Amino acid sequence: MPYSIILTAEKQDEVQLVEVKEVLESIPGKYLEYQLKKGSKGPFIPSREYTAALSELEFFSWMQEFRIGFDVGDEQILVFLTSQPIENRHFNGIDFLNRTVFVDLNNWEKLLVGNHPIKYPIAFHVLISLLIIIYFKEEAGAKAALHQEDMGCILDLNRKKTKVDLKLLTARICPTCMDTFLNNLPDINLLAYFRSGLEKIRYDMVEGEYFRKIKPKPITVKLQKVFSKKLGYCICFDGIGSVNLDATHTVVYLYFLINPQGESLKEIYKDYLFLLQLYKKFTGTYNHGLIAKLCKLDYKVDANGKEIFKKLKRENSMSERISKINKEITVLLGTFGLEKFYQILKRTEESHGVDPQITFEDETKILQELKSNLGKFKNLPS
Ligand SMILES: [Zn+2]
Repeated sequence: MPYSIILTAEKQDEVQLVEVKEVLESIPGKYLEYQLKKGSKGPFIPSREYTAALSELEFFSWMQEFRIGFDVGDEQILVFLTSQPIENRHFNGIDFLNRTVFVDLNNWEKLLVGNHPIKYPIAFHVLISLLIIIYFKEEAGAKAALHQEDMGCILDLNRKKTKVDLKLLTARICPTCMDTFLNNLPDINLLAYFRSGLEKIRYDMVEGEYFRKIKPKPITVKLQKVFSKKLGYCICFDGIGSVNLDATHTVVYLYFLINPQGESLKEIYKDYLFLLQLYKKFTGTYNHGLIAKLCKLDYKVDANGKEIFKKLKRENSMSERISKINKEITVLLGTFGLEKFYQILKRTEESHGVDPQITFEDETKILQELKSNLGKFKNLPS
């Protein structure tokens, strides 16, 4: 049975309430079931505009009235998001006895680098509060477990809100707290769910569109002569190194590098001769069968020595080569975005290729030579 969580806020805060609920529900798994309860008669906590902030005790007593008035069951956890100031600038509180939580809605926006929405740190604190309520049977145990000094663990007390970023950006459960959780109520799957949920929020904040990112910048890629390799050539990325490809993969990759406008995988047979000659350049031999397959063709020679080509419908030779090349490119360039410029990807509805923004230089001039000496493949298959 999922834990039932009632989320509520006063009328003026309902937009934020809905956004926080969306973040919480974006976490895969149905271990927690969230339900919105809206205060139907406008503000249900008396305005304290001209008096001091509410104490936690006063606040929770209003929450208790709400719980009774709105018929919230004892087993349900009530989470209240509030813009009401609480004494001593408390921004997150838990009433263990009544299973009630509050998280405040003020002044979150200046916490982290970048202009991320405040729904993330708030949802993060809701999740930690639920974890604490579910895993600690009483307040004393939870209080003892909290870190009085911030150390980058989700149970950091954080006396000041400005210190929460360490907790947010690590989403870490420190070894001591991990032991405590496991000893208190060893539902390992639920604990793993909480951990993955906190990590998801952390990830969405750091990797999401709101966080300032480092944009990779394309570099020049070159075909160069080398004497140290069997092939005698390499495809080299400026300042990084060469990609590890054998003759066939080198031929395929060069084919896409010199066609920045992209190529339809169905039309590659038109460049059969070019691919055949390029392969010979690297290996010294013609390999009709292999190149024909790359072009989705079946190659045979009849009794009179005439070459016969037939189109093949199911032939994955080219796709397999492309995946291998793309994989090797991530091995060399990493997975932070630079690789996307150089991988052979579907760029338009009809064509595959590298990103047209990149610069490719053939220092050997063999590609130009080959291109100028060859027409398109004439012996079109029937
Ligand atoms: Zn800890």
